[in-house]
Amino acid sequence: MAEEPKPQRIREKLDVCELDRARMSLLNPALIEQKKNERTTDENAKPVLELMMKEGIETVWDRFEMQQPPCKHCEAGTSCSRCTMGPCRIIPPHRIRGVCGADADLIVARNLLDMIATGAAAHSDHGRDIVETLYLLGTGHTTDYAITDKEKLKRICTEFNIKTDGKNPEQLAAELGSAMLEEYGMMKNTLQFTNRAPKATRELWEKLGITPRGIDHEVVEAMHRVHMGVGADYVNILLHGLRTSLSDGWGGSMIGTEVSDILFGTPTITTSRVNLAVLKADHVNISVHGHNPMLSEVMVKSVGDPELKALARNYGARESILLVCAVRGMNCSCERVSR
Ligand code: SF4
Repeated sequence: MAEEPKPQRIREKLDVCELDRARMSLLNPALIEQKKNERTTDENAKPVLELMMKEGIETVWDRFEMQQPPCKHCEAGTSCSRCTMGPCRIIPPHRIRGVCGADADLIVARNLLDMIATGAAAHSDHGRDIVETLYLLGTGHTTDYAITDKEKLKRICTEFNIKTDGKNPEQLAAELGSAMLEEYGMMKNTLQFTNRAPKATRELWEKLGITPRGIDHEVVEAMHRVHMGVGADYVNILLHGLRTSLSDGWGGSMIGTEVSDILFGTPTITTSRVNLAVLKADHVNISVHGHNPMLSEVMVKSVGDPELKALARNYGARESILLVCAVRGMNCSCERVSR
């Protein structure tokens, strides 16, 4: 059998692939040691990173290294592939406009607005999932969730001008869910939670014309404005970026946070086990990535199911364990991590 070619050191061979590099790492303990310390200061993560390098398992750091050096036009935001006449790059002194006439300022502003709209859409749509759950719970279409903080439900209903007297929590959940879903499409032309902002701040928003009018409305308008041949004034584009951000912060994200508290309980200070040390060799370890509580909460419930526990034991596990890997934000489930 022909001898396998020896892996090359990073950067000695330009076309080295991830697998080659991983294999090279396997043959180079000093490099593994160096990379391990460069990649994290977390002592818990170091043994895991070391093992992954030894076993040739690619990580984000490997892919980042393979992407270097970055395209300098993309890095500066002065490249555009918004339409099929491009991609266009701004390279002074001669190439100072794209085919459509967009200059560097406009291209950078459009790229930034595109990123803002993407982030706002992701956050706010996450909030929509949570509000839909509140609404479905209130209208009797789901029994998998419960209203944990009834006082908060009443308080937010009052903020939304919903009368609470004589109504049970389910009725209130349905009415509040419906009112909050309206904030997305938008017939009112204002967002309820912006009333929480100081008066002077709201006046400034009005003066600049950046008071958000609706959540989906601002995201869709952002997408419209970045389209080739639509927005031509970079200041105007950037101002709409601010309006889109506000629609997320005072709209979708705030709704998501408040409704998470209503459904899962307002978080309190708690002691919890965190980090990779929660993993146990004799347990079933489930890792959930992301901070949307809709899935993680039902998983926390399901790991207590006697049938699933028996199944885990049948396969040799001592217990079942749930590891929720959550980014702090909308009522993450860190405090309910392990069983
Ligand atoms: S939108 Fe303009 S700058 Fe962008 S790719 Fe098309 S022609 Fe080029």
